Amino acid sequence: MVKLTFYGGVEEIGGNKILLDDQGTKIFLDFGMSFKRRGLYFEEFLMPRSANGIGDFLELNLVPDIKGVYRDDLLEHFGRKSENPEIDAVVLSHAHADHANYISFLHKDIPIYCGETCKYILEAVKEQSQRTIENEVIDYKQRPVFKCDYRKPPIKRKFHTFRTGNKFHIDSIEIEPIHVDHSVPGAYGFIIHTSEGVIAYTGDLRMHGLHAEMTSDFINTAKEAKPIAMITEGTRIDTGQTNESEEKVHSHAKKEISSCKDLAIVDFNFKDVDRFTTFYKIAKELGKKLVISFKHACFLERYHKDKILRTPDSTDDHILLLKPKRLTGTYIDDDYSDYYIKKRLNYPNIITADDIRKKPSDYVVVLNFWYLNMLVDLKPENGVYIHSLSEPFNEEMEISYERMMNWLNQFNLKFVQSHCSGHICGSDLKNLVTDIKPRLLYPIHTEHPDMFKKLDINTRVVGEGKVYKL
Ligand SMILES: [Zn+2]
Repeated sequence: MVKLTFYGGVEEIGGNKILLDDQGTKIFLDFGMSFKRRGLYFEEFLMPRSANGIGDFLELNLVPDIKGVYRDDLLEHFGRKSENPEIDAVVLSHAHADHANYISFLHKDIPIYCGETCKYILEAVKEQSQRTIENEVIDYKQRPVFKCDYRKPPIKRKFHTFRTGNKFHIDSIEIEPIHVDHSVPGAYGFIIHTSEGVIAYTGDLRMHGLHAEMTSDFINTAKEAKPIAMITEGTRIDTGQTNESEEKVHSHAKKEISSCKDLAIVDFNFKDVDRFTTFYKIAKELGKKLVISFKHACFLERYHKDKILRTPDSTDDHILLLKPKRLTGTYIDDDYSDYYIKKRLNYPNIITADDIRKKPSDYVVVLNFWYLNMLVDLKPENGVYIHSLSEPFNEEMEISYERMMNWLNQFNLKFVQSHCSGHICGSDLKNLVTDIKPRLLYPIHTEHPDMFKKLDINTRVVGEGKVYKL
């Protein structure tokens, strides 16, 4: 018998932790953080405490309270006894935080299986972020950390990486990862061969991106496998045909940037390599330089390692690295203590806001929301700002959005929205489901699981923590 239990990602977007138990072999498909659930209790200055181990997360049901899953140190810190791991593996679909981040809490002996590029991205995330117990996916520091332990090296997790089609086994379960197109490279769907038959898991995917053929590969393999069940994402089941595309983002943004006589600023998620490539191309085509941050360089250098992605290195002729003002504000080497900046200070292509102000029309600057204060140094006059991200969909995002608008108005920047989603639209999703035709459908990663019932497929709207037998 196979048992499926769904934690997180149920009636919400993301946060998936799907437990698959095939005659005692237990794997988790993803182990993500739910932004929505976390946001019910926490905000910027009201944070979960690392000083309570895993306690705050268990008490608030941000992770399920189940046995044999979590790190010894975090359990003991919370006053519980350590437990032997009862999970054989985590199979990770892609590197987005809502699928990956709470791997941070897992017992060190639980191996993680993910795509090769997915691992690169997790490493880039680690390199440029401050360590907290919510982002210790690659490795973790044993807690509590006393002063004498500061120099102790972190404990590394066991990773196994794959490429599309590389089947692997976890005891009796055979897993076939198939690449899918999503707004992050190294994203996979899985064809899982269990003792009861095949279970397909879509991960996050789409058909309107630059690599629809990868998603088609998944659909075809899943269809041929005649799955007894499919777990599907349903982020946008409530939309119809949207006609969005990366090509449209390219032509729209290029038109706006070419007609701007001053500085062009863009904001997009750097995990999205296709979006990076779009803006890199635009800058190149218009004879401009693309200015990125030291944080972005951590990602770009990993993408460059994957030859299939065909991305430039961070020292490319058309790329510049923007030096942030720190401490004295005079750009001296002593101002920088973050290792990811320090180790790149000798790059030949470093630029400051003062240099950019000399001829702003030569540049396209990638500036994320948290760095809008750099506008004070960049001082654009009649520039354009391209928001290449989704529009706000909750109250917190609305507030940030309003703040962003204040910055843009202050510096007289023309606002342009240009984006295409990482998630499959409703009509493509309906085609995907009816094409694969699983015997049973479990929609997750959606606020509208009921909408799947309209399809001619036996659908189960899942409940948090309930066990479904196959
Ligand atoms: Zn995703």
